[in-house]
Amino acid sequence: MGARRASKSKSEGGDGDRRIGRRALLVGGAAAAVGTAVLARDELGRVWWRVPGVEKPRKEGEVDYTGAKWVAAASANWRRADRPDDYGVDMVVIHVTQGSFASAVKVFQDPGHGAAAHYIVRKDGHVTQMIRELDVAYHAGNRSYNERSVGIEHEGFVDRPEGFTDEMYEASARLTARICARYDIPVDREHIIGHVEVPGTDHTDPGEHWDWDRYMKLVRQASTASA
Ligand SMILES: [Zn+2]
Repeated sequence: MGARRASKSKSEGGDGDRRIGRRALLVGGAAAAVGTAVLARDELGRVWWRVPGVEKPRKEGEVDYTGAKWVAAASANWRRADRPDDYGVDMVVIHVTQGSFASAVKVFQDPGHGAAAHYIVRKDGHVTQMIRELDVAYHAGNRSYNERSVGIEHEGFVDRPEGFTDEMYEASARLTARICARYDIPVDREHIIGHVEVPGTDHTDPGEHWDWDRYMKLVRQASTASA
């Protein structure tokens, strides 16, 4: 989420995510017709997971990060997938909620919101997971970035740096370090980005007061500690 630039008002989820069903069918046909081995392998990889019975087993309420508490987002705010097998995960996108933790949880549970992130980190360092990392969350406002990333929201406001607590930075850094370790994502600013850095976005979060130097240092420390 986060503050939007004034000029545009497009929906955060309005990035074509919902067209996947039709696209998958078209891609399947195209791959068969083209017959190029590399293309076919790549495209068929994306079709194959749609065949019933090949998805990874799921348990109700299961979390991907130890210590996170599960609260399910409305299913309209994400798309079922089987990452990283169908889409590789190579990014973490950092957001600021522009509101309280409770209000972020509430809007992610609202099917009319059209957007949600995988995780929300509260001021006190509590982590709630609302969408499985297997699935594509509508958080970046850019379809391919949604498919390749894990989205982390942080309670607070872009213009109130005093709300970015030590506990929040540290808890978020531990979470990001674990995500990077799991998918072999390099711990750098090419792969850990702000929502504002997503191409085509009209959002400004996490904003100029987010302390990237401090955050990246904490992520590197957590990566070393857990390695
Ligand atoms: Zn955002």
